[in-house]
Amino acid sequence: MTDSPRPVAKKEPKDGKSILAEIFENLPSDTPTEVKLPSGCKFYPGGGPVTVRPLKYEDEKAAALSRVKGRHVLNFILNRCTEGIEIPDLLTIDKMVLMLKLREISFGSELIMDTECPSCEGETKITFDLSKLPIKELPPDAEDPQPIMLPILKKEMVIKRPRVKDEEYLGSETAAFQNLWRFIESVHGHTSAAIIQQVLERLPSKDARLIIKTLSGSNAGIDTTVNFECGGCGHKSIVEVPITEDFFTGN
Ligand SMILES: [Zn+2]
Repeated sequence: MTDSPRPVAKKEPKDGKSILAEIFENLPSDTPTEVKLPSGCKFYPGGGPVTVRPLKYEDEKAAALSRVKGRHVLNFILNRCTEGIEIPDLLTIDKMVLMLKLREISFGSELIMDTECPSCEGETKITFDLSKLPIKELPPDAEDPQPIMLPILKKEMVIKRPRVKDEEYLGSETAAFQNLWRFIESVHGHTSAAIIQQVLERLPSKDARLIIKTLSGSNAGIDTTVNFECGGCGHKSIVEVPITEDFFTGN
């Protein structure tokens, strides 16, 4: 046995820049990705595009250090990662899609959810591919504010599309009922606050429900319902993909 040293390739001394380049060689690109929003950006001053880049540790750190809480955390993060739109002005139907895209480029598009079969009560893990959720775009003739025909009064009402800055007014059913007036531009051509108030006081339930349904944006945006077939008993049901703040934790 000999202990003579083996020849080793001489290593060039590295500067800080090339060391970091090597450490980050496998980092996915953080080039902003353009997001196709249901509104087509047609109600935004610049008209798009809206881009989003992956979430970084620094963003989460900044969110933790700031005093924002609850749903504001997500808006704070969206604000840091998004270009091309002021987050308070973002339509709520677009926000869902932007959130999904941010989740997808930061943690991947797979989402695993525990669910209980409503028939046999067996617990299953469902795996969703977030990038496959269907997105309903607004029709080309969509307007903001948008006219709707009240089914009972048979009069036209013009209502504003909700944006992120309006979220608190629609946070619960109670909030929505109390704040309907904020979204009404006109009724039968009248814009007076006093007239709108008096119409709301006597508004039939069916008409009020149509306004709330329109505000909830159910006719556009992301379809979060997914068909699920239980592996145990074969029961078919529909489950809702939970798109909430905590879905940002990669799983
Ligand atoms: Zn089952």
